[in-house]
Amino acid sequence: MLEIKNIHKSFGQNKILKGVDLKIDKGDVVVILGPSGSGKTTLLRCINFLEKADQGLAVFDGIDINLKTASKRQIHSIRKKTAFVFQNYNLFNNKTALENVTEGLIIGRKMPKMEANALGKKALDKVGLSEKYHAYPSELSGGQQQRVGIARALVINPDIILFDEPTSALDPELVGEVLTVMKNIAKEGTTMLVVTHEMSFAKDVANRVIFMDEGVVVEEGSPKDIFVHPKEERTRKFLKRVL
Ligand code: ATP
Repeated sequence: MLEIKNIHKSFGQNKILKGVDLKIDKGDVVVILGPSGSGKTTLLRCINFLEKADQGLAVFDGIDINLKTASKRQIHSIRKKTAFVFQNYNLFNNKTALENVTEGLIIGRKMPKMEANALGKKALDKVGLSEKYHAYPSELSGGQQQRVGIARALVINPDIILFDEPTSALDPELVGEVLTVMKNIAKEGTTMLVVTHEMSFAKDVANRVIFMDEGVVVEEGSPKDIFVHPKEERTRKFLKRVL
């Protein structure tokens, strides 16, 4: 479904991504693990053009898109197929949960408000927020705000959802409710690429785990391959530190 080939990205003199390849098939839940600063977030942001890569190719359903020179139309086509869940939720504080969720449909896709609201409510129901359609972000906990963020991603019915450390801004007691929602949508067959430090999610939910360090993919495999039989010394060292 999505293939990323040889992606490079530097910030100034700092080489952050040094030729990463990635393949995601329909229904995959791929988790990217790695030490802080290894380039995980940058990789996700380059896929969705939140950052412009210096080099690299995205092949989406057989169509090649150059990540450096993509046209506006190509960027739009990738954004239509992907949704992004941000670490810090990125909600509009002056809009209700429902308005946040439907904004992309009404403004981006020119959908009539009534139709968008019906879809938005369904998405909020799915993440357990049926009681909170009209609440503002300031009236919601961090976990609830992130669930609005997930509903906003679900509502556009993307081919793939990119999660950028979705629980790392949350108080520990709120992490579980967000991971539960993510598990549920994974079970329904949602294709997901997830950067996270939550090892339990990687072990229990991922069908593929990628370990990145210093801008390259060091190793990838099933959760069992990575957690039980890691091949590379760098992977073993990382796991020893975090498990
Ligand atoms: P973490 O797990 O801590 O979030 P990460 O693996 O996701 O780490 P990135 O967020 O991709 O790592 O960052 C990789 C490096 O790129 C870091 O050293 C970071 O400071 C740098 N970096 C990221 N974004 C920018 C930017 N916009 N400008 C300059 N440097 C950046």
